[in-house]
Amino acid sequence: DNTTFDVPVHPEQVDWSEHYPERCSKPGETSTSGQQQHDSLVRFADVGCGFGGLIVKLAPLYPDKLMLGMEIRDKVAAYVCERIACLRREHPGQYQNISCMRSNAMKYLPNYFRKGQLEKLFFLFPDPHFKVANHRRRIIQPCLLTEYAHIMAPGGWLYTITDVPELGEWMRSKLEAHPMFDPVPEEELEADPAAGLLAAASEEAQKVARNEGKTFRAVFRRRESPREL
Ligand code: SAM
Repeated sequence: DNTTFDVPVHPEQVDWSEHYPERCSKPGETSTSGQQQHDSLVRFADVGCGFGGLIVKLAPLYPDKLMLGMEIRDKVAAYVCERIACLRREHPGQYQNISCMRSNAMKYLPNYFRKGQLEKLFFLFPDPHFKVANHRRRIIQPCLLTEYAHIMAPGGWLYTITDVPELGEWMRSKLEAHPMFDPVPEEELEADPAAGLLAAASEEAQKVARNEGKTFRAVFRRRESPREL
C-alpha cells in the first residue's frame, strides 16, 4: 500500500544517524569528532532515484556532501539501501554520504528538508504522464517548483533530464516561467561534474544511451529573490 508509511511532521524529527551513521549523531547524543568535521545536513536530493545509479556515482565526487535518493516504490528503495550497505562494506569509510528513503516526493519534501537546505535537486527521467488529464501528476509543476525553491539554497541547482521530447519542453518551459529560477549557462554546465553525469549515471540514462536515444537536459539556478514578472 503506497499510502501508509511514516512521515515526519518536520525535518528535525528525522533520525539522520540511521541513514548516515558516520556523519550524524543520534538524537540527544553528542556528536563524535569525526561527525563534527562534516556538514550533517542533506544537501543533494535525487527525486525518483530508481535504482540509485546517480547518487552512487556522485558519492565519491562530493565526499563531504550528504545525499539522499527518494523513491516511492518500496522494493526499489529497499534495493538501493541494500546496494549502499554492500558498497559501505566493500569500501570501508566510503559511501557514508549517500542513502535512500522510500517516500512520495510530490507530497512530503518539506517534511524532510528545511528552508534553503538543498544545494542540488535532481529529477532524472521522471515518469512522463503523457495524457493531458495526467499532466498534473508530473513532478515538475508550477506549484511544486515553488516548494522546491523553498527547500533549495539560493544559488542551488535544479537538474532535469528526459528522453521524452515533449516532457523536456514542458520541464524547461515551467522552469523558465517560474520567478525563482534562472537557466544555468552552458559554460557553467560544462564545468559541473554532476551535470555531466545526468545522461550517463542512472539506470534509465544507461538504457536510453544503449538505445542511442536523444536526451533533453534543463538545469536551473534557484534565484536569491523572485524575478519581477
Ligand atoms: N531517476 C531514475 C533513473 O534515471 O534511472 C529512475 C527513473 S524512473 C522512469 C522514475 C522513478 O520515479 C521510478 O522509480 C518511480 O517509482 C519514481 N517516482 C515516481 N513518482 C514518485 C514520487 N512521487 N516520489 C518518489 N519517487 C517517485
